[in-house]
Amino acid sequence: MRTELLQNPVFAMAAAQFDQVADFLDLNDELRERCKWPKRLITVTVPVRHDDGTTRVYFGHRVQHHLTRGPVKGGLRYHPKVELGEVAALAMWMNWKCALMELPFGGGKGGINCDPRNLSQTELEKITRRFTMEMAPFIGEDIDVMAPDMGTNEQTMAWMVDTYSTSAGRLVPGIVTGKPLNLQGSAGRSRATGHGVAFLASRALNKLGVKIEGASAIVQGFGNVGSFAALTLASYGVKVIGISDVTGAVWNADGLDVDKLKAHVSAKGSVSGFVGAEAIDPGEMLVQECDVLVPAATDMAITRENAAKLKCKVLAEGANGPTTPEADLIISERGDIFLIPDILCNAGGVTVSYFEWVQNLQRYQWTEREVLTRLETMLEGTFARVLNFAKQNNLPQRTAAQALAIKTVADVKSSRGLFP
Ligand code: GLU
Repeated sequence: MRTELLQNPVFAMAAAQFDQVADFLDLNDELRERCKWPKRLITVTVPVRHDDGTTRVYFGHRVQHHLTRGPVKGGLRYHPKVELGEVAALAMWMNWKCALMELPFGGGKGGINCDPRNLSQTELEKITRRFTMEMAPFIGEDIDVMAPDMGTNEQTMAWMVDTYSTSAGRLVPGIVTGKPLNLQGSAGRSRATGHGVAFLASRALNKLGVKIEGASAIVQGFGNVGSFAALTLASYGVKVIGISDVTGAVWNADGLDVDKLKAHVSAKGSVSGFVGAEAIDPGEMLVQECDVLVPAATDMAITRENAAKLKCKVLAEGANGPTTPEADLIISERGDIFLIPDILCNAGGVTVSYFEWVQNLQRYQWTEREVLTRLETMLEGTFARVLNFAKQNNLPQRTAAQALAIKTVADVKSSRGLFP
């Protein structure tokens, strides 16, 4: 299994980051092994009859990296390229993200190898419901709580609650987070990840002495993370000059109207063809001059090929794993880019998921103001902790964030001891 996992480039990247941090922490061999490998790798087949009458079997995975500090928490993604190794890497990152934010969760990630862009609502509903039933023995409010990720949304979560609750014979809202508000979702959850990205980017600009009003930003990806990051940045008075999605990229040096772009995407399904903007090559867009660059699409977007060409002051990682280790090295050698690492930058999502879960367990709803205020306080505190630790130890900010997180997990494992 070790070899199989390491053959996946994304897992190899997460493992390389882990090894580097474990060296810095001087973790002993036992704790290294116990922290690095996932506790449970669950794969199920999900047979679905399509609208045209044909049946197809999808593969669904859930990796529970560990349960040492509490239930497993993390998203479920629908994407044609989902593979077990990549899911395991994302689960490992979720782990560090939850520990860094001091949430009482271990990390997990799920994925189904389907293409949601080419499936009808009925087919998506069937895939979701069957996957939930197949996973039922392995999940629970106190065991593993899924949430939206790439290709999934509030509706996916609503189907999961319904399926799980129907079989339990009672409503179990805490089985997933990122639910619709009327199904005991949390106010502010849908905007939380993007809001956190924009909030931290503004803190970084502050540190650099760059005025937020009138600063410029480029956002790669216009899904849940990218769209709310762009909207929040725009609400701060930042000019969002470039935005891309899988179909292309749009550019306006005076600032795009993000609200109108969102409406355009709802109607047309992509950013392309947006009036009031020029088309630009999505790869070229990444290396244009700007104050804030937000990669909010897939992993490995910033690579050895484009890292040296970046012309941003702040790199705010909305996506999980957007920067390869080679690119990381180039960025830290350059020394002129303020990197907000993914496990901090996009932690707004899982933090508000934690709030949602707490609200569900307490049968109590908070207001959006309460949610966003608590979120900002937690992000601000962790941002300061990461910056101080990086400074004190002369570390890149990613290594500092991961070191704080891995140390938290290693300490708990060490306190619990090794059974038997
Ligand atoms: N999918 C999101 C992430 O990668 C959120 C996970 C959650 O809310 O549990 O952080």
